[in-house]
Formats: sequence, structure tokens, C-alpha cells
Amino acid sequence: MLNNSIEYLKGVGTKKADMLGKELGIFTVGQLLQHYPFRYVDKTKFHKIRDIKDDSEYVQIRGILRRMDSYGEGRKRRLVAAFRDDSGMMELVWFKGLNWIQNLQVGAEYIVYGKPSVFNKKLSIVHPEIEPVTTANTDAAATLAAVYRSTEKLNAKYLDTKGLAKLIRNVFVKIHPNRASFPETLPLDLVEKLRFPSRYEAFVHVHFPKNLGQLKAAQNRLKFEEFFFMQLRILQGKQLKKIGVRGFVFPTIGEHFNNFYQNNLEFELTGAQKRVIKEIRKDLAVGQQMNRMLQGDVGSGKTIVAFMTMLIALDNGFQAALMAPTEILAQQHLQSVTEMAEGLGLQIALLTGTVKGKKRKKLLEELANGDIDILIGTHALIEDNVAFKNLGIVIIDEQHRFGVVQRAKMWRKNDIAPPHILVMTATPIPRTLAMTVYGDLDVSVIDEMPPGRKPIKTFHKYETQRLWVFGQMKREIAKGHQVYVVYPLIEESEYEGLSEVKDLMEGYTEMEHEFPKPKYQISVVHGRQKPEAKDFEMQRFIDGTTHIMMATTVIEVGVNVPNASMMVIENAERFGLSQLHQLRGRVGRGGGDAYCVLLTSFKLSADGRFRMQTMVETTDGFKISEADLKLRGPGNIEGTQQSGVLNFKIADIVRDGAILKTARHIATEILEEDPKLELPKNKELKEYLLRTSKSHGFGRIS
Ligand code: ADP
Ligand code: MG
Repeated sequence: MLNNSIEYLKGVGTKKADMLGKELGIFTVGQLLQHYPFRYVDKTKFHKIRDIKDDSEYVQIRGILRRMDSYGEGRKRRLVAAFRDDSGMMELVWFKGLNWIQNLQVGAEYIVYGKPSVFNKKLSIVHPEIEPVTTANTDAAATLAAVYRSTEKLNAKYLDTKGLAKLIRNVFVKIHPNRASFPETLPLDLVEKLRFPSRYEAFVHVHFPKNLGQLKAAQNRLKFEEFFFMQLRILQGKQLKKIGVRGFVFPTIGEHFNNFYQNNLEFELTGAQKRVIKEIRKDLAVGQQMNRMLQGDVGSGKTIVAFMTMLIALDNGFQAALMAPTEILAQQHLQSVTEMAEGLGLQIALLTGTVKGKKRKKLLEELANGDIDILIGTHALIEDNVAFKNLGIVIIDEQHRFGVVQRAKMWRKNDIAPPHILVMTATPIPRTLAMTVYGDLDVSVIDEMPPGRKPIKTFHKYETQRLWVFGQMKREIAKGHQVYVVYPLIEESEYEGLSEVKDLMEGYTEMEHEFPKPKYQISVVHGRQKPEAKDFEMQRFIDGTTHIMMATTVIEVGVNVPNASMMVIENAERFGLSQLHQLRGRVGRGGGDAYCVLLTSFKLSADGRFRMQTMVETTDGFKISEADLKLRGPGNIEGTQQSGVLNFKIADIVRDGAILKTARHIATEILEEDPKLELPKNKELKEYLLRTSKSHGFGRIS
């Protein structure tokens, strides 16, 4: 029955079935049951008109229809009803469905549901749900009513919340006699262990809950199920990949690594760095392909870990590649890698979009015949004609800026076996996302800063306090330090015809006035500059010629100027939390006191205020990323969009983190005992995975 087309349900037929498919993606009865309510109305609670404000959320009112007036003609026609309860009066307004609305009876009692607004100083609800008071809707049993997502087209065919509920109820009426054979997807002992309702009960209760407890239990089970099968799939895939994909074995820690460690390493590695290098070494020695993600806050020292990992590949006779999302970052990597490699006799090359012609041809030759040991670059590395002699490891910096497809391409840069992959990210990924979007990667975390780092003191100031900011900047510069001033990029569409750097250029005029030459020197960097100009300006700041770096977000990732001690962020409310955190991480690398000033206008949204507060309160990247996830939801966190793994029907990765954790834990336990799900007790699981494998396009993440 669940696989049957909805076409054959009572009251559907070809036309409506077609529409349900097109509008909501519902084709089968099973899919209809999985069209979960997105909200429930507490039918026992009624609002008083007097208490309603124009920014109230959805309200339910019980009252009497007092009058109905019609205004306008033809398509502009609207119906306005006066509706009153014992506390006051409001208006109900309709622009559509007027024929039906005209059947409402003036003087009768109705229950009205909708989102209030104020128009012409009158409180009103446009297109409310309305139904006469009957015993059915005041019945104590029907306390929670499901609300379904629908569309205008469907509403017009009476497939609104009520219509959908009716369809679903009919399905249950039909299934009920055969409920014992309703497919159960979880092993019975698991259902019992977790005290879940049966699958059938869960479905009934999620659509028609009698009370909150019943609803929660049903939701928990269905959410768990969704997370659980996803985790089983990811973890099993990861396991099979480990068994199935051969990886190069790098048993040797040789000349390059030791040379570097003994002669070039200027500081003691932090405990976290040592631990991570150990984890990586272990991966490289076992003959399986490494697929590891290295998380570490900005400035935690990932570059050196990356470099030492590359040296291991080199020591075993392989080449290494380091890929960065921007030209500037690639150059910065080239610089630091070249410095670290001094005296080791390595050939290091840079390949970006700007390397062209003869130079490029020569580079590609040297790469193919193995003369180049380490290739650093941008997306240019992915291109098909970039062929290595024997690529042993690929390191991808700021991996969230690359798409899944781009990363997968690096896999195929070798014929014999895929190279080992280490992806690095400075945007800490909330645990829940790490378990899902990146669920098939092993994770290493550098959770310790190099010694001597002090937390960056962060201030939130309004634009009117700019003089104070200038004063602080002068103080820092007088101490021999440097200052970043960052402007948000402006989308073209926002300021029609004006360039994205409008604010930056206006700010520059003011800054020049406040910080006159020759005493002060200013670098300006933005996305509209030619690469040469950009590099020139960057270089002047890096070598200390300029005191102030004014820039749009091009400096967001990577640049490392330890002497910079202050960061001013203009229009800070325009930045997301993780961006702000990234920017702030640019300062305080020299060991002394460092400052970050967030400048905003007085007008701040609640969301904006929360972001500023979070930044002032904490410098912990993980806390910030959790806050970011809560604010923006998982779909908007960089790197999650294309993955497709977040299309949950009922589970919510932000709110249901605890359920996800349990699901992953149990999936891990089951796979540890029974990797291929061959035991009789896991039969349901195996079957379910097989049955649904086509509908889940989990590709390889890296
Ligand atoms: P990120 O993790 O943001 O890539 P980097 O690798 O650029 O950080 O390191 C930031 C700075 O910290 C660099 O100047 C680097 O030389 C320095 N650094 C890294 N590890 C240590 C350490 N163990 N002790 C002292 N300084 C370190
Ligand atoms: Mg870095």
C-alpha cells in the first residue's frame, strides 16, 4: 500500500495526484505519510483579541462573525469581515476564494487562525483559516491539530491543511486493520531498548497526536530513524571504502622530515600539533587511503602540520600538492612553505590561473617528470592537464570553499591509487555537521593555540565613536604595530551601478585625512584590482612599509602578518559570525595584546546584536560556529549546500543534536559487531538500506 500511487486514494484522482507530485513531491502513499506537519495548533488555547499585537505569531481566536462587506470590483475585489470576541474586535480579510467565504454566516461562532498584522491602524488577519465551532474542534480529544505545508495551487483544489489531513486520515483508516504488517524498519530489540513506539504508531501519532507526550515520542522515533539510517549509510560507506580503496603506504620517516625537525623548526610544536601529526602518520602507514579533516582555529598552526605531512610523502618518493581557495592565500602558502623548506633542497612551485604560456608549459613538464616535489596552487590544480608523476598526498586548505566535485577530482590525479587527502578548515564545524556533512571523514582537531597567544580584546562600537577608534589605531601604530580596516563587499544589485568598493573608497578619503602622509602609509586592497596591484599593496603591508591595510574581504583567509595587532571591521553587522571570527583571527599573531573593533550603525537587528555580542563574549571558534549554526541554519553554512545530506524530512540538525548523537553511537555499535549487517537480527536494517540506496546520492565527500 505504501508504494501505491496516491492517485487511487479516495478523493484524489489523476489531476490532484499530478498536482501533489508537482507541488510537493508526493507521488506515493508512503510519501504522503512522510509529509510531516510543520506545526501543531493547540486547539485548547484561544487568544483574546485585546492581547494581540501586530507582531504576534500565529493566533487562534474564538468569536462571532459580525459583518461582511465587499469592496472593489473584479480582480480587485476583497471581502472584509468584522470579528469579535468578548475582549475586542478585529478584521478578517480575503482577496481570494470569495465564493466560498460568502457562505460564512454572520452571527455564527467561528474559530479563526492566522498571523495578525496591522493595516490602516486596524488589527486584521489576511486569509485566516476559519471554521465553525463544532463539537469536533472543541472536543477534548482533538487538542493538537497538525498544520501542513501546502501551496496556493493546492489550496485552490481544497488540498490545504484540512484537505491533506483528511487524505492522511483516510490512509490510516484503510491501513488500520492490517497495521500488524505495517513495515517496521528498526530491529525489535532496538525499538524496545529505546522505548520507541512502533513505526505504525509513530506515523499515526505524528499526524494525529492526542497529547504532547505522544507527539514527542512519535517525533523522536521518526527523527531517530532518519538520522540513524543516514549514519549507518555513511559509516558503512566509510568502512567499505577503507577496505576497498587501496592507499599508498608511507612507512618511512626520512631525510626531509628529520632534517626539518632538527634544523628548521623554530619552536616547540604544541601538544595538539604533535597529536595530530601522530594521527596522520598512523593513517599513512596502514595501506588505506587517508581521508582526514584537520580542524583548527585560525592561527592554531595548521600550516606546519600540513608541511610535515607533505614531507612524509616526499620521504617515500612521492609528490605533494597544497590547494588553497584564493590566489593570495596560495601565494602566502608558497612563501611560508618556501621558508620552512629552506636548505632542504626541495623543488616547490606555484600554479594559479595567472601562470600562463611558456612558464606554465615548463611547470607542467617538470611536474609530470617528477622534478617538482611540492605544488602549491588554486583551483588551477584540478584542471585535467595538470598531471603529476606520482602524487602521494593532497592537502586542501579552507576546504569548505571547494565543492564536493572539485575535491573528488583530486582523487583521480593518480592511476594506481588515489592520493591521501587531508582537508583543513579554520571554520570549526559544529559537531552535528561534522557527523553528517563530513561524516565519512576522520577528524583531527588542533584545540590548543601556540604559547603566548592572548585572547583578542573585542569591542562593539557605534559609528559615532569613530574618533575613539582612530585614537586606538594611532596608539597601536605608535607602538610599531599595524592595523587592518575591513569593509564588507557590497553586492552590485544593492547599489545599482556603483562598484562593490564604494564604502572602502569613501573610507579611504576619511582615513587619509585622519592619517596623513608621510607619517602614515596606507595600503588598499580590493577585489577589483589587478592581481599585480593587489600583490604590491599586500606586500607593502606584509613588509611593514604601510601602517594601515584597508581592504574588502579579500584578506579574509590566510594572510599572516604577525605585527598586525588591531582589526577594525566596518559595517560589522553585514558579516556573518564565522566571517567575523575569521577576520579577527588575522591579528594577535605576534604574541602581544591585540584588539578587534566591530563598528556598526545604531540600528541593529536582533540577529545582528546577537552576533556582535557573541563576538565580544568569546574567541572560541567552536562556540562561535555553534551560534552561527543556530542563527543561520545548516543550509546556509558554507560547504553544506551541495552535499544533499541535509535534506531531512523531520529531523533538524540544529535542534536534534542529541538524537543525532545517539543515532551515530548506536549505528557505530551495530557496525562494529556486524560490519556487513549479516546477522539475522540486523536483517531489517540491511533490507532497508538496500531498498533506499537509490534515493540517497551520498557520494564520496573527498
Ligand atoms: P593556521 O592554523 O591559521 O593556518 P598558521 O599555520 O598560519 O595557522 O600559524 C599561525 C602562526 O603561528 C604562524 O606564524 C606559525 O609560524 C605560528 N606557529 C605555529 N605553530 C606554532 C608553535 N607550536 N609555536 C609557536 N608558533 C607557532
Ligand atoms: Mg592557514
